[in-house]
Amino acid sequence: MKIGFIGLGNMGAPMAANLVKAGHEVKGFDVAGVTVEGAAKAATAADAARDVDVVITMLPNGQILRAVAAEVIPAMRQGAVLTDCSTVDVESARAVADQAEAAGCAALDAPVSGGVGGATAGTLTFMVGGPDAAFATVKPLFEIMGQKAVHCGTSGAGQAAKICNNMILGVTMIATCEAFALADKLGLERQKMFDVVSTSSGYSWTMNAYCPAPGVGPKSPADNDYKPGFAAELMLKDLGLSQQAATAADADTPMGQLALDLYKRFVEDEDGRGMDFSAMLPRFEKRGRA
Ligand code: NAD
Repeated sequence: MKIGFIGLGNMGAPMAANLVKAGHEVKGFDVAGVTVEGAAKAATAADAARDVDVVITMLPNGQILRAVAAEVIPAMRQGAVLTDCSTVDVESARAVADQAEAAGCAALDAPVSGGVGGATAGTLTFMVGGPDAAFATVKPLFEIMGQKAVHCGTSGAGQAAKICNNMILGVTMIATCEAFALADKLGLERQKMFDVVSTSSGYSWTMNAYCPAPGVGPKSPADNDYKPGFAAELMLKDLGLSQQAATAADADTPMGQLALDLYKRFVEDEDGRGMDFSAMLPRFEKRGRA
């Protein structure tokens, strides 16, 4: 396939590289001038989008996505599919899809989980919203860049799945970290806490697969000085998107709001920026009840 790839950052560059390796013809564009070996360098975003079957975007946020979409959709040929893999607000995903459809193209929102490691290894999970035919067109590319693609529904459904998942993740990580800090103060050894909880009703992905306590459970960022992994500021971004969506949809999400407030303080006032999101544990450890 002919592919235009826009946004060659931490995630986009390895994803584009995997498409090149699989034999696809890729044109790449990034405002920072980044290039990917084996991909042609486009001069502009519109240039990357011209005469290709699929345009993939991997950008920082919804505002930038809207600006890029406004530039590339008029350049895309009829029937081409704009596939946005960034994590953005549901409204931007739907607005871009409407614009693409009005121009005779199709759009998918296809955010990912799996992080930079998954992007490099080609093991991402894609959560996809948009029309069946467009999903069928892009599915072979999802299979190269990832190990699983779930078609979640119409436009915006992929972003909805992503932010709901990450709201659970943020809330659960905080609960796991505060429980470890409480266990410390009660004199319960962390390994014993893990042995019990990981096989009891308090188990979760954050405890069993990504344990925030160093030296306990499988290897995780806690064992690497809390270097990310999944950075606290990215969790903050996703929690902000879930609250934005909850406000727009009139959904009551008090735990999501509290998780947002805690990660905001952690990132902005408590040196959490650049740390893994599981570094909430040393934060709780240092604190008392006040
Ligand atoms: P990044 O900042 O490393 O990459 C974004 C790239 O977009 C940069 O290279 C930037 O120069 C480029 N860019 C910005 N504006 C542009 C424009 N107008 N035209 C072309 N290029 C432009 O970010 P990332 O970590 O690669 O994340 C990308 C997206 O993936 C984000 O939406 C993020 O939330 C999501 N995501 C990231 C991770 C992760 O672990 N990093 C995991 C899941 C999802």
